[in-house]
Order: sequence, then structure tokens, then C-alpha cells
Amino acid sequence: MTAGIYTGRAKLKTLLLEEKAIGGEIVVADIVENYPGFPKGISGSDLTSAIEEQARSFGVEICEIGATRIELNGENRIVHTTDDRMITTKTIIIAAGTQNIKLNVPGEKLFTGRGVSYCAQCDGAFFKDKEIIVVGGGDTAIGDAIFLTRFARKVSVVHRRDKLRAEKILQERAFSIPSIEFIWDSVITGIEGKKTVEAVSLKNLKTDTVVTKRIDGVFIFIGNNPNTGFVKDIVTLDESGYIITDENMGTNQPGIFAAGDIRSKMVRQVATAVGDGAMAGSSVQRYIEKLETVKK
Ligand SMILES: Cc1cc2nc3c(=O)[nH]c(=O)nc-3n(C[C@H](O)[C@H](O)[C@H](O)COP(=O)(O)OP(=O)(O)OC[C@H]3O[C@@H](n4cnc5c(N)ncnc54)[C@H](O)[C@@H]3O)c2cc1C
Repeated sequence: MTAGIYTGRAKLKTLLLEEKAIGGEIVVADIVENYPGFPKGISGSDLTSAIEEQARSFGVEICEIGATRIELNGENRIVHTTDDRMITTKTIIIAAGTQNIKLNVPGEKLFTGRGVSYCAQCDGAFFKDKEIIVVGGGDTAIGDAIFLTRFARKVSVVHRRDKLRAEKILQERAFSIPSIEFIWDSVITGIEGKKTVEAVSLKNLKTDTVVTKRIDGVFIFIGNNPNTGFVKDIVTLDESGYIITDENMGTNQPGIFAAGDIRSKMVRQVATAVGDGAMAGSSVQRYIEKLETVKK
């Protein structure tokens, strides 16, 4: 939508395709405290509604369908859609984000944004002096468990094996922090609560015993998948499947740009996605200007 604000304002005809919820994954966040301009925080849905209104005010057309494939045809790029349309365009900005790998247990979806989180940087500060669980044993899980001890009184790392996959140095740091405990060989089988998370069911995979643990939050770090399936044959991806771009958001294909969480980069946040969008929108303008100059 930010890219659309830039291209729309530059009087370029802009169509935004969205297959699920307009606004992307931040829509479900109860409160966003680290996006500039809102000192008291703002809900994800209020933030994205405002951005949507701004994009539409510059003529961005939003169509609630998905893109299934991109085809190259000379200087044209053709987008195939879930309703079997073929949209011909000169430029495309791919901003299809990522999907967190889910535990797929009862309560997970219901409490997402209300105690269940996939982002320590986003939600850690809401758990000051609370008790939380971190699920996972890789670098992100252990790095974020350490980060979360800045806020939480106690962090319990639940891991399905009896050893971690994370880098040794992270493991050593985590083992040395008294407020981190490890619950080995265990998985969460359910998340319960009223308005927010209050407890989880924990199953020990070696003994098959299930216990209920009182908890205020569950951070799930078992991996992320970029939504690049529909473009994997068109643009270059990194080893984890994220789109590689240059600093102007250009991909290896002329006229195809990428922005936001789908890019190969370090920090995946609203502020960085918005920055990418602004850059991608500006790059599109330059690309179109160049095409038109060549034709004259
Ligand atoms: C619960 C939660 C809380 C968060 N809290 C914060 C926070 O406090 N602060 C912060 O900065 N960040 C936060 N984040 C991270 C933030 O949401 C992301 O960094 C940001 O949304 C990335 O924006 P994006 O546009 O790149 O991708 P997304 O928001 O993922 O948007 C991508 C969109 O593309 C659509 N799409 C995917 N494939 C297709 C297709 N083939 N065709 C059409 N549409 C498609 C998806 O449906 C989605 O709507 C949070 C995330 C979550 C889940």
C-alpha cells in the first residue's frame, strides 16, 4: 500500500492484488508501539485502514484476488490471478510477505495478537514482569528468548528435543540466564484463556504425560516461509526462499521489484516494509520514465 501511495501520487495506474486481508499480517496486532508517529501506539487494523484510505485517495485500485503466476512477454509482465484473469502491466512490485509456521494447536489462531506472538521485537514489551513460553530450539527461538528476558519475569523454552539447534554461543548465554528455564522433549498441545492466553497444555513426548502450565504469553519461533511459491521461477531467491533485491528493491528481472518481509533482509517490521514500499514505488516511477524516454 505504501508503494501504491508513491505510484498513485506519481499518476501511475496502480492495481493492488490482495488474496486475504487488506493490510497484511499487522491487521491482527492489538497494538503497534514501534511504528513512528503514534506515541500511544495504534492498533494494526487502525494503522492499515489509514494507509489503505491514503492509497485509495491517490487512485490505487484494490482487488481482492490472488496472484498465481507471473509471465514475461517482452517489456510486458503478465500476472495470472486466482479468478483466471491475466493482467498485463509494465511493472510489478511483489510484496506478498511471509507466513509463520504454525503449531496448529487449538487456541493458537484465536489468541494470535492476544498472547500468542511470532515476533519478540513486536510484542516483547507487552509482557513486562509476566511469565511466557518460547517454542523452538533454533537461533531465532533462543536469541529471542534471551531478548525477552528484558521484559518477562520468566521465560520457559519448550523444545521437542533434548538439545538445541541454536549456535553454541547463544545456547551458552541462554543456559547462564537464571530467568530462562528449559522444558525438554515437550510440545504444546493446546492454548487456553478467556480474553488473553492464561494457560497451555504441555505434553512430554517421552512419557506421554500432559500437564497444564499457567502462562501469560506464547512466542512461537519454529520458522517462517516466504510467500514466494508463485514467483520462484521468475526472480532469484536466497537459500531460504526470500527474494534477493538490490538497494532500490530491484530483482534480477527488469520491471519486477520486491518490498517488505518477502525480501532477503535482516529486520522484518512495518517500518522497514513501508520503507521498502516507498523505495519500490519510486523505482517503478524511474523505470517507467526510462521506458518512455527510450520509446520517444
Ligand atoms: C501478530 C503480529 C504482530 C506484529 N507486530 C508488529 C509490530 O508491533 N511492529 C512491527 O513493526 N511489525 C510487527 N509485525 C510484523 C509486521 O506485521 C510485518 O513486518 C509487516 O506486516 C510486513 O509487511 P508486508 O507488506 O511485507 O507483508 P504482509 O503484511 O505479510 O502482507 C503481505 C500480503 O500479501 C498477501 N499475499 C500473499 N500472497 C499473495 C498472492 N499470491 N496474491 C495476492 N496477495 C498475496 C497476503 O495475504 C498479505 O496480506 C507483526 C506481525 C504479526 C503477525
